[in-house]
Amino acid sequence: MPSAPSSNARLDIILLAAGTGQRFSPEASGVPKQFQKLQQKSIISHCLDQFLSWPECGKIILVLPPDMANDLPPAIKDALAAYTGRVAIIAGGVSRAESALNGLIELDRAEEKSRYVAIHDAARPRLSHRLLDALKSALDDGAEGVIPVLPVSDTIRQKTSDNPMAGSRVVDRNSLMRVQTPQAFQTGRILAAHQKLANAENKASFTDDAMIAEADGAKITLITGDEALKKITYAEDLTAMRQEMSQMETRTGSGYDVHKFSDEKTGPIMICGIAIPHPKGLLAHSDGDVGLHALCDAIFGALGTGDIGHFFPPSEARWKKAASDQFLKFASDSVKEAGGRIIHLDVTLICERPKIGPYREQMKDRLAEVTGLASSRISVKATTSEGLGFTGRQEGIAAMAQATLSLPATE
Ligand code: MG
Repeated sequence: MPSAPSSNARLDIILLAAGTGQRFSPEASGVPKQFQKLQQKSIISHCLDQFLSWPECGKIILVLPPDMANDLPPAIKDALAAYTGRVAIIAGGVSRAESALNGLIELDRAEEKSRYVAIHDAARPRLSHRLLDALKSALDDGAEGVIPVLPVSDTIRQKTSDNPMAGSRVVDRNSLMRVQTPQAFQTGRILAAHQKLANAENKASFTDDAMIAEADGAKITLITGDEALKKITYAEDLTAMRQEMSQMETRTGSGYDVHKFSDEKTGPIMICGIAIPHPKGLLAHSDGDVGLHALCDAIFGALGTGDIGHFFPPSEARWKKAASDQFLKFASDSVKEAGGRIIHLDVTLICERPKIGPYREQMKDRLAEVTGLASSRISVKATTSEGLGFTGRQEGIAAMAQATLSLPATE
């Protein structure tokens, strides 16, 4: 295991949520956009949860509108209660630059601070750990400031007179980039740049922190941004993001497994997590549960992540005689981690003996217990192979499985 990063090599976070959202007409509730709900939680919670679950996250400073920071409205107080002790709340200023500077000053006061800071607009809730890793890695490589950018795909026209109907010209989009946040910096460098700008008359024209760092001579490194990290500016942006995030697709996967009966071992044998008496035991590195192994492979198949041998290699001593229900638990947790759910599991056991019928309900209950599914979403079937082949000769037992998953739609 790599050792945990030392605290000063972490990335502190300033989360800017002090904007009043002039272009976002609040819904009937009058709730500012950063506290609007996206799926089951507020936009700001999406950001905070992503930062807090990232292993290299340092301190988090949340910058709110001054009236709100000093006297949290009850609904917002409730939304932020889960973060008490982990997130410092401070008041923003009249401009974005002033809010960021307030955050940097607050960090500078802290006894223990990180070498790096990322400044992020709370209006971009779909933040990935991959992007945070890339920002941090650029800073580790010596970048003074690093920002995520994306190409421009629309044709862009520039107004050539006050009346756009009267005159405009096409701008070469290949020379343009869209800039996102978080933007990450060496903390001392961005603090100094903001302090120098604090009294500048044109500070309102600085729309992001990289501009401010650059005005102070810092070199900005570019990394590839993330299309999902869209900014919510207008109410329609939030509606579109809600629709995007609720789009799921159905995927199926199949699994197959065989284990051989042993002349040296006696039963019981494990099938679908249930111990069943049998004169012969099974040859296997783990407990040899063909039902569970086939189900795991079906789930991994639908996820597209590999097979059971990839996650639990028989070459590793720790899986010797392992109870296979932990493999199924892992597979089922992987579905949750991917933001999906299991719709249905179906397994067919192929053997002449033991008879499966008397254990079918127990097996369904056990599979339901391990996966957290209702047993109505689980099917256990059995067949013989009419005395044909290796299963017919009772040399081994086989299982086939199908898993049906609902997963977030991807490209
Ligand atoms: Mg197996």
